[in-house]
Amino acid sequence: MAFLFKGGDQLFNEGLDLIGRKDFSGAKKKFIDANSKGCANNNLALTYAAIIDVGSNRANIGAYRALLTQLNNLQLSSIKFGLTDIDTQDLIVECELDIKEIEAANMHDYDYMSKGQALIAVAGEYLARIGEKNLKLDEIFKGNTLSTGSREALILQAQGYSTMGRGAVHTDPKIAAEYLQMAYNFRKQLGDSGDEELRLSQEYARSCTCWICGRPANAEGIHFMGMRSTIEPVFQKMSENDAVKPISDNAERIYVCLPCYTAISNRSEDIAQIYHEKAMAEMRAMEARLQAEISSLRFSISVRR
Ligand SMILES: [Zn+2]
Repeated sequence: MAFLFKGGDQLFNEGLDLIGRKDFSGAKKKFIDANSKGCANNNLALTYAAIIDVGSNRANIGAYRALLTQLNNLQLSSIKFGLTDIDTQDLIVECELDIKEIEAANMHDYDYMSKGQALIAVAGEYLARIGEKNLKLDEIFKGNTLSTGSREALILQAQGYSTMGRGAVHTDPKIAAEYLQMAYNFRKQLGDSGDEELRLSQEYARSCTCWICGRPANAEGIHFMGMRSTIEPVFQKMSENDAVKPISDNAERIYVCLPCYTAISNRSEDIAQIYHEKAMAEMRAMEARLQAEISSLRFSISVRR
């Protein structure tokens, strides 16, 4: 009679085979079973399971911490995951930096300077500690051999400056435009279009004089808006020599600072609300009148029958 129970070593080898076929959840089960039955590579089995856990949720700090614990216990200087050779120490560094990156990315946007600086600090570490070496977890789980420490650093710097720019615009649009310009430069280095950062940088750098109150304002879309208007040449001429104009170049819009703009829109909303309530009250009164007429008609019909 043959024994159908599989030994730990056999389960371990089956796990390796499933990694080769990219069935990571199947492989994880094999490694956990191999470890519980006992196999020659007990620590390695748990390390593989922990790597797979990280791959299934790259934003899970707990999974990274568990993998770090395994890697520190491993006592192997290198391992093989599928076709990828991994230096244990490199993977430890990658996990440490990924944790810092997730922590920085999870910070609140309203704390924009701290968040931006945290992202830029992690960028510096990717550059210094990983540099041109490629990121193994991206290679294993995304099949991407082009991500390197330096590339990740560019991504994080773009995110960092973009975060600071989008936050700083509320207090200092000029600085904000500079941050967005830097974010744009990093995007270009990555080979991205950077369109969004360039557009924001240009909008934040734009300034106007408010047509209504005459105050200067910077950052179009944030601190001032264009409002559709009929601007006859006689008015266009008046601002011809102004360095900072109160109307758009095509003379289709007047520029209005946000306090004036919101005051006007709030007031018009209030007025619209009053008209809406009046109209509704009139409709309800009309409905009641019609209902009364219908009831009286029904009554007279029933009397005639
Ligand atoms: Zn104004």
